[in-house]
Amino acid sequence: MAPVPAPERCDVAIVGGGILGLATARELQRRHEGLEVVVFEREDAIAQHQTGNNSGVIHAGIYYAPGSLKARLCVEGARDLYALCEERDIPHERCGKVIVATREDELPALDELERRGRANGVPGLRRLSAGELREVEPHATGIAALHSPATGIVDFGAVARALADDATVVTGCAVESARDGVVAHSQGQTRARAAVFCAGAWADRLARASGAPADPRIVPFRGAYLKLAPERRELVRGLIYPVPDPRLPFLGVHLTRHIDGEVLVGPTALMKPRPDSLTWPGTYRMARRFWRTGLHELRYAASRRAVVRDARRFVPELRAGDVVSGPSGVRAQALARDGALVDDFAFSVTGRALHVRNAPSPAATSALAIARVIADRAETII
Ligand SMILES: Cc1cc2nc3c(=O)[nH]c(=O)nc-3n(C[C@H](O)[C@H](O)[C@H](O)COP(=O)(O)OP(=O)(O)OC[C@H]3O[C@@H](n4cnc5c(N)ncnc54)[C@H](O)[C@@H]3O)c2cc1C
Repeated sequence: MAPVPAPERCDVAIVGGGILGLATARELQRRHEGLEVVVFEREDAIAQHQTGNNSGVIHAGIYYAPGSLKARLCVEGARDLYALCEERDIPHERCGKVIVATREDELPALDELERRGRANGVPGLRRLSAGELREVEPHATGIAALHSPATGIVDFGAVARALADDATVVTGCAVESARDGVVAHSQGQTRARAAVFCAGAWADRLARASGAPADPRIVPFRGAYLKLAPERRELVRGLIYPVPDPRLPFLGVHLTRHIDGEVLVGPTALMKPRPDSLTWPGTYRMARRFWRTGLHELRYAASRRAVVRDARRFVPELRAGDVVSGPSGVRAQALARDGALVDDFAFSVTGRALHVRNAPSPAATSALAIARVIADRAETII
């Protein structure tokens, strides 16, 4: 397909051809017939960053605090995403997930996850005994587990491409800022009534260039995965997770089947500092808070044996020789000046521009629902 050049004007400019930018374009166009919405993407193709390099899990909404935006948008987003996959023939599977407790001291956290999942309306959630766990995942071992049959898998890159079918997307066009109704970019400029930034790891820099405050800053975390050798994939039927450490925003080393049949083990969550992350006071405050975890993750990065050892707590047959190097992805995590990792979605507004400052996991699952929230806010500035 011939590349689309940047237009001289449009109604709404969306910056970022990841799943959020594309879902927002779709939502605005569905609401306002004839509205000219253009998506600007700096890469030569869409979904080259978080959207195309993630775990591919359609989360059901178990982890998040009841009543939070994250909880509501995940449950609604998963429902809408399954409907879209069915409507557009996007390969997906409700393969189910287990969260496995291997020690007595993990049971209170498992109870809390069950309480949250039920309060959030996660469909079909079930507590499993050790024996019942074996029926769902024959190679997993634990003293108790939670089973979420509605958790599934999809290639979010394929979802993004389906959304892009209905949108005007200008690729190879890096936006620099949006001020006074002018979007400045690498092809010149476009006049737009409003701009919506869904720029992932670049969100903070673009917001600042458009006049927004520096807080929060994005600190990238690199997640690297291992892959199970093809002849060992039968160790995992669906998705097997540990009980997460409630103090951390990550889910722990897990085993995930992908829609292409691969089974990934990981990820590690290793900070990948940018030069400007090192001058941000929050980086040092967070590093002090998590230094123990940081060292643990460094050990993971250094040793695949350590990742395998962790996963072997709940899949004991796993051996270091069963895994090979796999893909990696970079999470765009917002970090406040005081060192707190921003857990929920964060926005800021500059003139007629709306900036999505933080869209952490499960934002791919929730994208269609988050797009409604973004569109509600964008409508106030169009
Ligand atoms: C390792 C990993 C595993 C994850 N697992 C899951 C999971 O299993 N399930 C789930 O729901 N979520 C998961 N997530 C989270 C999820 O992938 C993200 O929350 C989601 O993809 C965010 O989408 P986005 O559109 O905001 O960001 P992105 O996909 O990063 O898109 C941002 C886009 O903006 C573009 N851009 C940036 N600057 C400019 C500019 N100046 N001009 C034009 N374009 C620009 C970028 O090129 C990019 O295409 C995971 C994330 C990672 C990294």
